[in-house]
Amino acid sequence: MTPRRAGEPIPPRPPTPVSDPYFEVVVSEAESKRTGSDPSVQVRCLASHDRLFDVVRVMHFSEEYGMVPTGPLVIEKKCPSCKRIQSGAVTADPGYPWVNGPALGGPWRCECGKSLGYAEPVRGRIKTTCRCGAEVRVVAANAIAVASIPTRPVPSVPDTFEDGPSSFADVPF
Ligand SMILES: [Zn+2]
Ligand SMILES: [Zn+2]
Repeated sequence: MTPRRAGEPIPPRPPTPVSDPYFEVVVSEAESKRTGSDPSVQVRCLASHDRLFDVVRVMHFSEEYGMVPTGPLVIEKKCPSCKRIQSGAVTADPGYPWVNGPALGGPWRCECGKSLGYAEPVRGRIKTTCRCGAEVRVVAANAIAVASIPTRPVPSVPDTFEDGPSSFADVPF
């Protein structure tokens, strides 16, 4: 480092590179209904495509309603250092932090001591640094919402009510 002379402008600190995330559906909501597997989405770094963490909507069976979400969303991340899969809960409803059980809030660390990221509990927002050095911020509820987007186009069904009930009367016997 070269010493600065008095009056010399302080060079700006290079900003932390930020990348957008992108989401890859592992189990869609529709598939979940068919197979009983929990809906899940992989969150990846748009800049480098590295997998950052997964968001899972844990479901359970209710006698009254069938399969229903258990409560919070579960974040799963492989520790980049010791490779253990670490998981934690965050709110599924941004604005309402999950308080009915253990939840992530503040620095998120692996049991080996490695930092996995930072969790903001009110919105359930995870901030993590990708292997490429970019910082990625994701609201878990926004990530899992991608699982409910149909992956196949919905076939268009002609509106049979358009002509009114008279169309049935028109059918010759
Ligand atoms: Zn990256
Ligand atoms: Zn670890």
